[in-house]
Amino acid sequence: SKRRRRRLILAACTTAAPATVSSSGVQQHNHHHRQQRKKDKMVVIMGATGTGKSRLSINLATRFSPCEIVNSDKMQVYKGLDITTNKISFHDRREVPHHFLGEFDTDEVGELSASAFRERAELTISDIISRKRTPFLVGGSNSFVYSLLVEEYDPDSDVFNDSNSVSSKLRYDCCFLWVDSSLPVLYEYLDKRVDDMLDLGMFRELAQFFDSDELDRDLEIPAGLRKAIGVPEFHRYFKKYPPGKYKGLDRVRRGAYEDAVREIKENTRQLAKRQIGKIMRLTRAGWDLRRLDATATFRLLLMDDGSDDDDSGSDWRSVWERQVLEPSVKIVKRFLED
Ligand code: ATP
Repeated sequence: SKRRRRRLILAACTTAAPATVSSSGVQQHNHHHRQQRKKDKMVVIMGATGTGKSRLSINLATRFSPCEIVNSDKMQVYKGLDITTNKISFHDRREVPHHFLGEFDTDEVGELSASAFRERAELTISDIISRKRTPFLVGGSNSFVYSLLVEEYDPDSDVFNDSNSVSSKLRYDCCFLWVDSSLPVLYEYLDKRVDDMLDLGMFRELAQFFDSDELDRDLEIPAGLRKAIGVPEFHRYFKKYPPGKYKGLDRVRRGAYEDAVREIKENTRQLAKRQIGKIMRLTRAGWDLRRLDATATFRLLLMDDGSDDDDSGSDWRSVWERQVLEPSVKIVKRFLED
């Protein structure tokens, strides 16, 4: 595009400049200036799916107001399937402006690549900073986080499969928080979360999604939102039992339904494991991630039966505050005051 060409020419000019003015005072000045210029600050909340990044981001953003949240979950950037992709609710996001949450229509943009995310999110972040607010980057897609943060991004290199190419030169001054949990506890919690999402209406949402010519699409090579966990799994189900045609679940249909749910749980676990692997790769490459352990919170959440009147609900909240929120507040406070 024109803008991209202009930027490339500009980039070439900037890199070429010092060579053409070599050993002049101008070069010295430029060098000095570049060294002195402080990078813009940003808080980055990372972690596998389900670890509570959204909850933490709201907790922190309201404390360190004014802040704005930039979503970096590559399924949540699309419009639609709010329950299936587990977008933060309108109620929970009312106090903090969110960007890149349900903004793109898969049918219009196809798939948002990591480099397209880099280009667009960069502009959004500059805008947030120009309004004297702190950007919070929040989301589980490490390729989006990586593409946005590194100084030089090569869209053709597969950084997470070739550890040598992971760069630790970042273009922002980042405070990284990594919400983590022991894997067996997280797996169990993720299973429960799938059941909760189904209770919230995930099946109905997917039935509506497939209640159109969507069912006739070839999902062999899905793109964008159609890759979201839940879509391919239930596509097979709705192909057999089209939405709206049947009422309730007979024994056979229940079997097919349970197979889809089992697949969703397994794929969610695999996603979490892959995401943690990628985060560990970044830490090995020198990214300074501060790990917050939410295992105890998840253990308690697993015992929570959802009712308001027992003690377990308040227990997990106080453990979350002590073990995740309070240390995060300290880290962010020090970072922003620095
Ligand atoms: P990246 O590789 O870019 O860091 P990622 O961490 O999301 O992204 P991938 O291994 O690329 O992990 O898997 C992405 C796949 O995970 C998506 O194609 C989709 O199937 C699923 N996925 C990721 N986030 C969600 C979500 N919020 N809701 C549903 N499915 C999701």
